[in-house]
Amino acid sequence: MRTFRHQKDHLNHPRKINQLEQYGNSSESRIVPNLTTSLLLEEIEEEEAKLRIQKQQEKEEKIALAIQARKEMACQRLFSPFKSMRSCGKWTIKQLSLGKVETPLEIWIDDDDSRLRGMASCDSAWCRNCAKKRVAERALKISQYIMPIIQGEESGSVWFYTGTVPRHHDIDHQKLQTRRGAKAVKNALDYQVKKGRFSYQAVRSLDITFKPWLEKVYHCHYHWIIVFSDNPSPQEAYKRLVRPWLRAIKGTSSKSQDLQEIISEDEAHAKSRYVAKKAGLALGLEIASSATTKTGNKGISFAELLTLATDEKRESVGMYRRVYIEFLEGIKGSNTITFSRDWPEPESEEEEAAKLIISIPEYWESMVAASSSEITFILYYGYLWNRYDIIRDFERLMSCENREQLEELATAAGLTVFSRLFVWQRLMAHYHLILSE
Ligand SMILES: [Zn+2]
Repeated sequence: MRTFRHQKDHLNHPRKINQLEQYGNSSESRIVPNLTTSLLLEEIEEEEAKLRIQKQQEKEEKIALAIQARKEMACQRLFSPFKSMRSCGKWTIKQLSLGKVETPLEIWIDDDDSRLRGMASCDSAWCRNCAKKRVAERALKISQYIMPIIQGEESGSVWFYTGTVPRHHDIDHQKLQTRRGAKAVKNALDYQVKKGRFSYQAVRSLDITFKPWLEKVYHCHYHWIIVFSDNPSPQEAYKRLVRPWLRAIKGTSSKSQDLQEIISEDEAHAKSRYVAKKAGLALGLEIASSATTKTGNKGISFAELLTLATDEKRESVGMYRRVYIEFLEGIKGSNTITFSRDWPEPESEEEEAAKLIISIPEYWESMVAASSSEITFILYYGYLWNRYDIIRDFERLMSCENREQLEELATAAGLTVFSRLFVWQRLMAHYHLILSE
């Protein structure tokens, strides 16, 4: 019936047809794209929500890592057998040099953490504060030299070798064994060099895993990157590297040695970083390497040992602390990374960068230095979660270089300044607030 009426309408009002057509067309073209647009929008929104959650999780993980780093540093301050490690980052360079060395105090913030620069450090390879510093520099020194060979621009071949010794309860025994192995490999290579068969350059780093729950706690090994001037077959490379190692060390098997040629650029970068990182305290999550999976090693790294030593809730926390102390005492004086003499220095050193730098005036130096762990955390938190109010407050505080300026700022904020300490404590309350969030 409707159709009829419509038709009639159309007949009676021919103008309407045009209108209807117009309307029909436009509503058609409105509905269809609208549908797809809203579907698209939904998809985009879903994607965005996913990304938001992912970013949120990443930030939460970063905050957790920053807190863990500070806990580990606190643990090191308490338990390291060495005074230099216990007081690393505790005093400013100026304080320690009795004002003879004027190093400005600055807080540097980037995506990974925030740190106070201008503090005296211990430079130990096993220090939570210092270990990270040289990793990038060493990795560059390795990759800059091996890359042209991998790319075929220079002749030669590059090999990655992990030499292990049997587990033992005595760290001195492990030290002696690994040194003996390294010496045997070096002697065997040098002999061939003398005969004019080939030449080589090598870098090796000392790595160790722990099984504190066993009697034989320690497992030491060396990671080598070796550059040969020629292109030996895998069998020949085995003869040059693995055989002298096995001969020198009793009770180890060829199964627990790992030798491979580095042929891809990705592998070259990864291994450069791996060897540079393994020299001492490797930070962050351990990357599963072919070396550790091949030997079926489920031991923990030094970084994990330190993490476990901070976990008060764990019943076995004392065991991890004992091993931590015993190991540090035992490993003292060992080189963690050794380059052969003619390994070239890198051409350019990567400069450290920061997203945000806050200068600390003399007026605040001692207070900031004494609470550097908390302060750097608050600022990192503010940076990561876009809480610029926190950073701005701190910057304002740091802009006061004397009592008058501080009073002026406090009055503007509706506060009475009883003492500098009072303002400081209010700031520190931020820290505890954030931690309890
Ligand atoms: Zn240190």
